[in-house]
Amino acid sequence: MSQLPTFLVAHGLDEEGGMPVTNPATGEVIAKVRNYAASEVDAVVQKAEAARHGWAAQTAKVRSSALRHWFDLMVKYREELALICTLESGKPLYEARGELDYAASFAEWFSEEAKRAYGETIPSFATGKEILVRKEPVGTCAAITPWNFPLTMITRKAAPALAVGCAMIMKPSEATPFSALALEHLAREAGIPEDVFRILPSEDARGMGEIFCTHPTIRKISFTGSTAIGKLLLTQAGSTVKRASMELGGNAPFIVFDDADMEAAVEGAMIAKFRNAGQACIGLNRLLVHKDLHDEFVEQYTARASALKVGNGLDEESQIGPLITDKALQKVEALVDGALAQGATLACGGSRHNAGAQFYAPTVLTGVTQDMDIARSEIFGPVASVMRFDDEEEAIAIANDTNYGLASYFYTRDLARAARVIGALEYGMVAVNEGLLGTEVAPFGGIKESGLGREGSRHGMDEYLEMKYALVGGLPG
Ligand code: ADP
Repeated sequence: MSQLPTFLVAHGLDEEGGMPVTNPATGEVIAKVRNYAASEVDAVVQKAEAARHGWAAQTAKVRSSALRHWFDLMVKYREELALICTLESGKPLYEARGELDYAASFAEWFSEEAKRAYGETIPSFATGKEILVRKEPVGTCAAITPWNFPLTMITRKAAPALAVGCAMIMKPSEATPFSALALEHLAREAGIPEDVFRILPSEDARGMGEIFCTHPTIRKISFTGSTAIGKLLLTQAGSTVKRASMELGGNAPFIVFDDADMEAAVEGAMIAKFRNAGQACIGLNRLLVHKDLHDEFVEQYTARASALKVGNGLDEESQIGPLITDKALQKVEALVDGALAQGATLACGGSRHNAGAQFYAPTVLTGVTQDMDIARSEIFGPVASVMRFDDEEEAIAIANDTNYGLASYFYTRDLARAARVIGALEYGMVAVNEGLLGTEVAPFGGIKESGLGREGSRHGMDEYLEMKYALVGGLPG
């Protein structure tokens, strides 16, 4: 048997007919998992719909306590969950531990927010009438999640849904079902009713997506993944006018202005680019450096990137793990080769890494321009594309020249510029003098083709609430 802590994922294992899940660092099968068919979804939905009313009828305090217990169990099994995450996603163990902390923080945050789903009363337009606005759970929800943050993507969607009294049915990525199953196991132990929170691993992503989006009982679909699939799901969800939250792709600019603190900017750009081997939708995709700092910046950055330790995530020293699949590796390879053919220059890396079949060397390219494919596509690998700019206006124009609008970053010491650039960047999130911006307390999400809705923060709960306006007449005038 594998290194998997099976007590956490036991109910999802199926060594006979299940689908194999491989460790991207070695190519070895970790274990086989139960493979749900789209035809099985209806029964799960019916049970969820029957159970959710009882869950919603509990006091907010009861739901809050269960979520808090879920959080406590995640903390208790931190090492086991981090190990599962590293085994199936490939990320270095220290990143998996960090991810677990982040994932757990959503259970904690929404256990607190559960008690604060306030409605409102509105001063009436007439005597003898009262206007109430109630917040009510949307109903039974479905979600589809990716592999790059296999723990966080589950809690960030399930915790707000459960907090307000919805049921949540999720299909995790076929690459990383065990993290999701382990969290489901802990949720049951925490007292969250079995039927209101279900994880359904499946090889049939298309079939599951279609039934999630078209089933009349499911009232909401939440998705994190590529923009192409997000568009498909939105089209499908139109047939039943479902609520939809979409966290889609990004093309994050990271701008280093001439007045930036160079050391801090290099540090921030390392984190923003190389975390999770560059496989993050908020990851730095275009590194825009002012011409006066350019050469010095590239020298320092390249030295840091070349020194990163590439290897199996289970090795405590590893900083860069494998890419998730061979297909992902080939895409990164093609983008780098294409950029070089289109005139970019290699500062370091530029090829596969001998740590294993799915590893790519940390790479820095200079001389990248907006017309190259690499500047237009989500790289999703450990490859930094450096572009040179002359002034603020040009940097903003380049930064906004994309259909995406998720995360953006810039470094400056000038307060007036900071205010100006925050306003000018067409992105859902802006980090100023920071390379990491994810936190459960702030609204995470994008504009343009990067998505709809926000996750985390008090706004994250609104995604799972409907407003009901009640006009109460016949009252004493
Ligand atoms: P990524 O490149 O991050 O895997 P995807 O959008 O391909 O982005 O995958 C994210 C999630 O979407 C995964 O759970 C995957 O199984 C699912 N998925 C892929 N194709 C479809 C589809 N046609 N319909 C619904 N879900 C899909």
